[in-house]
Amino acid sequence: MTVPGSVHVLGMTRGQLEGWIAARGAKPFHARQMMKWIYRRGVDEFDAMTDLSKDLRTDLNQSASIALPQVLKESISTDGTRKWLLAVEGGQAIETVFIPETDRGTLCVSSQVGCVLDCSFCATGAQGYNRNLSTAEIIGQLLLAQRALGSTESERPVSNVVFMGMGEPLANYRAVVPAMQLMLDSYGFELSRRRITLSTSGLVPQIRRLKNDCNVALAVSLHAPDDELRDQLVPINRRHPIADLLEACWDYADSNGRYVTFEYVMLEGVNDSPALARGLAKLLRGRPAKVNLIPFNPYPGGRYKRSSSATIYEFQSILHRQGLRTMTRRPRGDDIAAACGQLAGQVDNLVTSPLHAKSAGGRS
Ligand code: SAH
Ligand code: SF4
Repeated sequence: MTVPGSVHVLGMTRGQLEGWIAARGAKPFHARQMMKWIYRRGVDEFDAMTDLSKDLRTDLNQSASIALPQVLKESISTDGTRKWLLAVEGGQAIETVFIPETDRGTLCVSSQVGCVLDCSFCATGAQGYNRNLSTAEIIGQLLLAQRALGSTESERPVSNVVFMGMGEPLANYRAVVPAMQLMLDSYGFELSRRRITLSTSGLVPQIRRLKNDCNVALAVSLHAPDDELRDQLVPINRRHPIADLLEACWDYADSNGRYVTFEYVMLEGVNDSPALARGLAKLLRGRPAKVNLIPFNPYPGGRYKRSSSATIYEFQSILHRQGLRTMTRRPRGDDIAAACGQLAGQVDNLVTSPLHAKSAGGRS
């Protein structure tokens, strides 16, 4: 419940919450107790935090709140993928996707409403830019998913988080880094660095900062091996060309001793020729690089087609022959428009009133 004028504790990092709670005359360890309740046990009522004193709970009820985004709609794909449409402040909506696999459960989170970077093959980009999400709105996606999936302290279906939903996470650095810190915190979600992947279209200065601030796994949306083609597909390339981007990537890989994953969307007749595969191999060969080929996911109004399976196979074989670790991503949840690049936060005809939201949890 939100008390008017109250402080939002959701999304505060451990240091911030300890500072806030100390200013109220309580001890820092109370902040850690609260974090365990909120993030590990999914509790959003102060009264349920039974190891806090009655006085502190009364104080929190009057001065603080834990406000989660509201679920407008849940969709479940025939392959088990789930998508939630969430209302965030300002009458806007974002999407979050859970992808179950045999050895892991991956949550794909959004970092912005829309995106300003306008890549030519992306539904989020086509929607234009609305605003940055707050840390609470980012971390709230994880909390809601845990709740919907019946997570408990010992059984947690979300084992991995990827920033591959709506928006460019490095363009919302100020909110995304604290959200990742909460995901890593031992009193927060306690995920390891390897299990959080940030995907970026290539904001070079922020990649360099991230190396020192929170060096989680990095995925870079390359999509073309030369500047001329990449300028057309990923317009931010005009500001941060491929050579600068790759230099930042190799530095990043040095900092965490791991591979950088390069995403490459397969667009028929645009970037899928054998010559371009060889160009890509030349750029990445001998480097700490893995390639992830993504069959293009169509969306209404999009101008491209998905490359054929034979073309993708041939492209992948060329990369393999050149010694590059490469996999082709299997589109998941495309029957519910939950696949990469399809997220647009469409509210359709849903009325975003709390009354409607209560009855909107049905499966589609
Ligand atoms: N803004 C970040 C993260 C969100 S997009 C980025 O661009 O990396 C996540 C991934 O989906 C990116 O690799 C992006 O290029 C890819 N993508 C976007 N639209 C797509 C589409 N229609 N089909 C397949 N992949 C797409
Ligand atoms: Fe933005 Fe990523 Fe879509 Fe490009 S691909 S428009 S950076 S969300």
